[in-house]
Amino acid sequence: MAHTEKPTALIMIFGATGDLANRKLFPSLYNLFKKGKLDKFAVVGVARRALSNEEFQLKVKESVKENGDTETNADIDEFVSKFYYHSHDVTDSSSYLALGKLSEELDSHYGLNGNRIFYLAMAPEFFGTIAEHLKKDKLTDVSGFKRLVIEKPFGHDLESAKVLNKQIRTAFTEDEIYRIDHYLGKEMVQNIEVIRFANAMFEPLWNNRYISNIQVTSSETLGVEERGRYYEKSGALRDMVQNHMLQMVSLLAMEPPIKLTTDEIRSEKVRVFRALRPIKDGEVNEYFVRGQYDKGIMNEKDVPAYRNEEMVDPESNTETYVAGKLMIDNFRWAGVPFYIRTGKRMKAKSTKIVIQFKDIPMDLYYQPEKTVNPNLLVIHIQPEEGITLHLNAKKSGQGTDATPVKLNYANKGIDGLNTPEAYEKLLFDSLRGDATNFTHWDEVALSWSFVDNISEVWENTKEASFPNYASGSMGPDAADKLLEKDGFFWWPITEIDVENC
Ligand code: NAD
Repeated sequence: MAHTEKPTALIMIFGATGDLANRKLFPSLYNLFKKGKLDKFAVVGVARRALSNEEFQLKVKESVKENGDTETNADIDEFVSKFYYHSHDVTDSSSYLALGKLSEELDSHYGLNGNRIFYLAMAPEFFGTIAEHLKKDKLTDVSGFKRLVIEKPFGHDLESAKVLNKQIRTAFTEDEIYRIDHYLGKEMVQNIEVIRFANAMFEPLWNNRYISNIQVTSSETLGVEERGRYYEKSGALRDMVQNHMLQMVSLLAMEPPIKLTTDEIRSEKVRVFRALRPIKDGEVNEYFVRGQYDKGIMNEKDVPAYRNEEMVDPESNTETYVAGKLMIDNFRWAGVPFYIRTGKRMKAKSTKIVIQFKDIPMDLYYQPEKTVNPNLLVIHIQPEEGITLHLNAKKSGQGTDATPVKLNYANKGIDGLNTPEAYEKLLFDSLRGDATNFTHWDEVALSWSFVDNISEVWENTKEASFPNYASGSMGPDAADKLLEKDGFFWWPITEIDVENC
């Protein structure tokens, strides 16, 4: 599909007074505006509370100042002048009719060619209702393009995801649905494909003959904060594994696409999900570990256990940590474990991928108690962005001892620029009609069916060891054992940081 480089559209943000709109969407739109990436546009903020256009514009201005570019320019007034507000009740047809009227007025006033983006930045229980109303109340009857951008979570399990998908498909075709997984907007996640497919030295080794295991870690230092009510029903498996972790695995494991088009890339990712070995009931504990954080000390401050957080059941069985071993049963990956782990209140905030290569066939540098280190390719996703290649070289001085060395590429160091935020990239992609970095329904369905097997077992068996890891640690001991039994260990994330290299 040809992508319009300077898009024109009316952008409707449902949930415009919410956290996501304020922290991410308005600053991202402003950045696009400032960089001259948008042609004609207007924004309608839609939310429950009553606000005038002027009050809303002031809020947008504040959000840009707080969360966006620190050197806000004079053009902020021009930017916010394109923002309008509609106080809305999501279940009331008359409210949609008024919104439709406003949209038509703005469309002709700004010359927006009948193009509409509907961005749903609100609680998922409203997604289906909104989509149905958009159709019924004719907001989707447009002369230009119409696209639905939808936040996670996309359902709670496969069944609920199917129901939601059916509802939104009444108003939008699959091609018009942009399901956000903001990890796919991250610079270094997008870089996985380039590292793999633009370097002659990696792809030939990218298989079970040369790779011993792959480790994907996404750790947070924050606890559940004020999201207890939501998190109790979700847990780390649904909140992180079903979407972000599995998406990263699919990019690491996919076959080279024939072309870099949306359809080709998505179909290769889907093939990875199809090759994921399903976890049967009796095998969950063999492949997966769950954890829940206990109290602890972080930044010299006492922090409470998950069970003592607000809106959390004091007997909660919800996991705040997951580690798992995934097997991809295809020719390329047979026998190579992909280990994933993610959790809250861990020692460091970090998202990293470690590709561990197999040992050399014969270690000429062997000394008792000392073997050469395996080669590692580390992809640093956040907070720092870069790649580190761990090699062995001769220790300087006499003798032939081998010593580990690291070749390092830090993204910021080279470009000298702040890479755009994931949301900025994804918003721009949705405006110009590039769905590559959004999840297709087939990916959503297959990843839920993988995760559902695990969550069913976990929900039906209370984990007696909870809480089983201290805040500020790297998770429960069982997660270490998961690798130990295969003869591996988690590469410590702080020691392989770019800045420590
Ligand atoms: P929020 O609770 O801060 O905001 C919710 C918004 O929805 C508000 O603008 C509110 O006015 C509006 N709203 C609620 N009920 C309504 C009704 N009946 N009619 C009309 N408007 C109504 O939520 P949030 O944190 O901004 O999250 C929004 C979505 O984005 C959720 O799906 C969430 O899972 C997802 N998300 C949020 C973040 C984040 O950083 N906040 C990150 C990733 C995904």
